Amino acid sequence: MRRDLAIDGPSGSGKTSVGIRVAAELGLMLVDSGLLYRVFTAAYVEQFPSDRCPRSDRLSGILERCISYEPGGTVLFGGCVLQLSLHDPKVDDLVSPVSAVPQVRAAVNRELRRIASFQDVVMVGRDIGTTVLSEAFLKVFITADPDVRARRRVAQLKRQGILVDYDTVLANMKERDTIDSSREDSPLRCTDEHIRLDNSPDGSDGVVQTILSEYRRRLEHAV
Ligand code: C5P
Repeated sequence: MRRDLAIDGPSGSGKTSVGIRVAAELGLMLVDSGLLYRVFTAAYVEQFPSDRCPRSDRLSGILERCISYEPGGTVLFGGCVLQLSLHDPKVDDLVSPVSAVPQVRAAVNRELRRIASFQDVVMVGRDIGTTVLSEAFLKVFITADPDVRARRRVAQLKRQGILVDYDTVLANMKERDTIDSSREDSPLRCTDEHIRLDNSPDGSDGVVQTILSEYRRRLEHAV
């Protein structure tokens, strides 16, 4: 029986930080699905910097190239290292429209399922519990106040040397939330199967501990 943990939620909710800690405690591999959408988007932005909307004919060419991984975690796209940071604001601006394209979702989902076919995983994203790992052992939905999420994002970008103001980040987050939750193909949503957790307070200890105890409780009762 598989023991995958699906963590869904909007950007800046802290789900990746929670996922990293939970995966380390459980000895499982962490897979951040948002990074794959960012890889395709960064490749698109590098090649077509003036496009404000992704064009499907141009996306098709990008989707043909393969993603590979170097020891140490560097992601290669078509055999090359991408020059653009995956968290560059130009990537933030285009990633949700790119992710709404069904062919992009199909390519990312193929890669995510390939990775998960080797081992149980903690996978973080928007549609993990609903689509990618719909049979996951435990599904969690992490939320946080928009203000907290925007402040976290500004701090996270600053640590990477990218300076953006709070209002720009908040506006981008709200726009991505709208596109991510209203798209036709596997929108972001919290289902009855998800455990909903609020990660607004600083420090994610409570959320991490709740997930760990629920996961372990289910393990004890699993046949
Ligand atoms: O999680 P992160 O903010 O890095 O994700 C970037 C974007 O990738 C999201 O705004 C969303 O548009 C897309 N995404 C998605 N489905 C996922 C993960 C990310 O559509 N499972």
